[in-house]
Amino acid sequence: METVLSGIRSTGNLHLGNYFGAIKNFIKMQHEHRCYFFIADYHSLTTHPTPEDLHQNVKQVLVEYLAAGIDPEVATLYIQSDVPEVAELYLLLNMNAYMGELERCTTFKDKARKQSDNINAGLLTYPVLMAADILIHRATKVPVGKDQEQHLEMARTFGKRFNRMYNNEYFPEPYAFNFGVDLIKIPGLDGSTKMGKSEGEGNAVFLADDPKTIQKKIMRAVTDSGPTEKNQPKPQAIENIFNIMQVVSTQDTLNYFEDKYNSCEIRYGDMKKQLAEDVIAFTAPLREKILEIGADDVYLSKVARMGAEKARESAAKTVKEVREIIGFKPF
Ligand code: AMP
Repeated sequence: METVLSGIRSTGNLHLGNYFGAIKNFIKMQHEHRCYFFIADYHSLTTHPTPEDLHQNVKQVLVEYLAAGIDPEVATLYIQSDVPEVAELYLLLNMNAYMGELERCTTFKDKARKQSDNINAGLLTYPVLMAADILIHRATKVPVGKDQEQHLEMARTFGKRFNRMYNNEYFPEPYAFNFGVDLIKIPGLDGSTKMGKSEGEGNAVFLADDPKTIQKKIMRAVTDSGPTEKNQPKPQAIENIFNIMQVVSTQDTLNYFEDKYNSCEIRYGDMKKQLAEDVIAFTAPLREKILEIGADDVYLSKVARMGAEKARESAAKTVKEVREIIGFKPF
């Protein structure tokens, strides 16, 4: 059994893309590996949220992951800032992280461009904090998207550098974990190829959306005037609707509309109506759980405490051993 570590951004509500692209896999993974899932709230400080927003965002993410099916009794689900050992390892790793390599990191350059009035040291050392998150549990598998590959490479660099410096094999090398072949990308409702939380109004369906909102968003999804030739290839926006249908509707429903499309008899209004119904049927139980768990502060605090306890046990062991390797020995 390998140790899997995944960070979860502490902003934004979950949408169908997050569910089918990531969480569904997490739910499966938690039974097959030793999983640590954490909400990255230290990381979020690079953008200076207000205390109220910070807390609210962390709570919402915790609630939605629990509602979606992460089992806190099976996986270790914790909030990053509840594990101060992460901050200590981050400090120690910072001593062997070099300015040049951090400045060359494409995500740093990107973010520095986007928030040019707030290029703080936390932004520069973001990959070091991420390395600390991974190395603190000596994880070997990290489910990440393509955009995180460079950060993971840096985590390997920092771990190997530490090993070389102290002449041991303490940190194993973490590698990207891509869930195998069935990696899917859920497209947006606005004709774009990806559903995303910051893509603008009408792009994403959130798990917490109420039925009316879902219906409105789907009925407004981009379509065209319909096919004019039999079996003609689908334009992107139409392909998108079919792709979303593929994950929430039955095969019969999908076949029905495929046939209608191929014979040029499709009425997009009918298809969207059906899709809205199926999305609502899919999200309704999740939404119900989100509302229920969100109102249960006692349960949430129990989950957070349990996660922190389990994560700290593993983190404290690593930090203790790292301190000894470095030479911080008790007298
Ligand atoms: P993000 O919302 O960008 O922080 O992504 C969180 C996780 O959800 C990552 O593992 C992403 O790869 C995944 N994800 C985000 N959007 C989509 C999408 N439209 N389709 C599939 N997976 C997605």
